[in-house]
Amino acid sequence: MTIASIEAVPFRLPPRRDFKWAGLQVDLGGFVLVRVTTDSGIVGYGEATPLPDWGGDFGRHAGETLATVTAMVNEVFAPALVGTDPTQVRHARTIMDRAAIGNVYAKCAVDMALHDAWGKITGLPVYKLLGGSVRASVPVAHMVGLMGEEDALAEAEGAVADGARALQIKGGVDAERDIRLTAALRRSLGPDVLLRLDANQGYGHPKAAIRIVRRLAEAGVDLVEQPAAGLAAMAEVTAAASVPIVADESCWDIHDALDLVAMRGADCISIYLAKAGGFVGAAKVAAIAEARHIACDVNGSIESAIGNAANVHFALAMPAVTLPAVIPISAPAGTHPYRIAGRYYEDDIVDAPFPVKDGALLPLDAPGLGIAVNEAKLARFRCG
Ligand SMILES: [Mg+2]
Repeated sequence: MTIASIEAVPFRLPPRRDFKWAGLQVDLGGFVLVRVTTDSGIVGYGEATPLPDWGGDFGRHAGETLATVTAMVNEVFAPALVGTDPTQVRHARTIMDRAAIGNVYAKCAVDMALHDAWGKITGLPVYKLLGGSVRASVPVAHMVGLMGEEDALAEAEGAVADGARALQIKGGVDAERDIRLTAALRRSLGPDVLLRLDANQGYGHPKAAIRIVRRLAEAGVDLVEQPAAGLAAMAEVTAAASVPIVADESCWDIHDALDLVAMRGADCISIYLAKAGGFVGAAKVAAIAEARHIACDVNGSIESAIGNAANVHFALAMPAVTLPAVIPISAPAGTHPYRIAGRYYEDDIVDAPFPVKDGALLPLDAPGLGIAVNEAKLARFRCG
């Protein structure tokens, strides 16, 4: 069996509300669908959720857009991969790495589509291709975007009322606001909800960041994500902090993960399939984390159902992923199980909502990514 064609299609979903974090200049909700078709007619789907202003510490990893991902897939990766075996997913990554440096969002979308096709060819869900599940479900942390304190409190309380047991609170612009909000959330939500404050590198010099993290801990935070920029600063904060520190911008791929371990740059790693260029690369990050007892979550840029299905399969199969995942609960219009928790878009390009129980996503047990992409909806949401 060979790959007959690979095609990229940009599309947009309508957001439930405005979502922002420190540094984010564009609107969420833009995606590139990648469709891999084999010579026997099997179709695999993948997705990129690129952002132009997201690129790792000191711009070491470049931002991407819907247009750049579409062009890289159609003009560079498709010609390199057409005619090869769709089930040779590691080899495909090697071919893509030879064809282009970087461009991990585009590589991720192709890698994901190949895994979906491979699963459909073998009749197995992707989590089984990854070695099988090590947990029964994936607890979800609801992301509370950068917004006024009253709005953030209302969003958080709504998500917890829906059943969420973990929250990721965006901050990093005004430390005093973050400390006040954390204390207010802890007072309102009680001791059992996991509170993770994401500063998106915003607390400056390590000594300043250490003081802020100490006060966040006193206010009741459980985890602080990316308080500073760069592994050297992150290591200083990690050494001084009483709460676990999570690396996000500082850890994209296996090379960042090796540096993080060597420098003791964080206690936890936030893994995105996209930062590592897909399942093949992200599994390497998870393996390093597992070897060093570094707890991970699966996170991303609020994917559509395609990328989110990939998130669920990955989180089910990786022993290191023990933290609640900051990922959506995907559902088409009118079917979302919750008012707020995990609800970022008003519609999605699948026909059925993802199965969920007690704020946790359940396995998608059909072959491949386990979802049916609605091509009519894709045509409606297509934007290029
Ligand atoms: Mg983050």
